[in-house]
Amino acid sequence: MTRVVAVSNQKGGVGKTTSVVNLAGYCALAGKRVLVVDNDPQGNASSVLAQGLGDKSVYSGQAPIQSRMSGLAVIPASRDLNERERSLSGGDGRLSLRRALAPYVASFDIILIDCPPNLSLLPINALLAADRLLLPLQCEYFAMEGMAQLLAFMEDLRDEQTAAVELLGILLTMHDAGHPLCRQVETDIRAHFGERTFATTIPRDVSLAAAPSHGQTIGEYEPLSPGGIAYLAAAKELIDGLER
Ligand code: ADP
Ligand code: MG
Repeated sequence: MTRVVAVSNQKGGVGKTTSVVNLAGYCALAGKRVLVVDNDPQGNASSVLAQGLGDKSVYSGQAPIQSRMSGLAVIPASRDLNERERSLSGGDGRLSLRRALAPYVASFDIILIDCPPNLSLLPINALLAADRLLLPLQCEYFAMEGMAQLLAFMEDLRDEQTAAVELLGILLTMHDAGHPLCRQVETDIRAHFGERTFATTIPRDVSLAAAPSHGQTIGEYEPLSPGGIAYLAAAKELIDGLER
């Protein structure tokens, strides 16, 4: 059964795109048929997995494009994504992404939707198209407040629209075990969310920041780096979590 996963957090720079690209790469290596939908006008996932922005977005009928990696397809973002967003308002417009993806769902095992850092109609469309939410979280105090807002927002959507989306998991990113505040946030998150927190944490690792400048996933660029090893383990957890 296909699982559609929105990767969202309204905060920017927390590792959403890094997680989408690298988890997608490792899931494809594990033999899954993976589609990445770039739902962020910044198009960062598109620059790693496609040749940058496309002519049209998923909302304008862009079909999946095979990436250079076997088993990994991508629907890139496009310049019109920002303008498109205005046409997405209203009850029906919020289901645009779900409708646009419907013809492709059966062709994939896992669909990962990268989201922009806000709670605009683009992430709303992603949450209403998804069965699961993956929430990358940087280990810092304000991140927890942002997360509470996103989870409350998801609950509202579920009530309003009978959306099916459930929290799959929280992935702690840019983790620094030597930092007391980071450890405290991790302890709090694990106490509150239990098994819905990924056991794997993603360390701060310059290789993860460098890989995109070579247009590569960490699995292509430096699989044996701490970040590469961590994303491989996180991808295994993702696959297990989606199969449960
Ligand atoms: P978002 O999509 O949430 O805005 P990104 O994935 O683009 O966040 O990450 C923000 C920046 O931090 C990027 O420059 C990225 O390369 C870098 N980055 C992401 N994760 C890590 C990490 N674990 N260690 C070091 N740098 C990271
Ligand atoms: Mg991003």
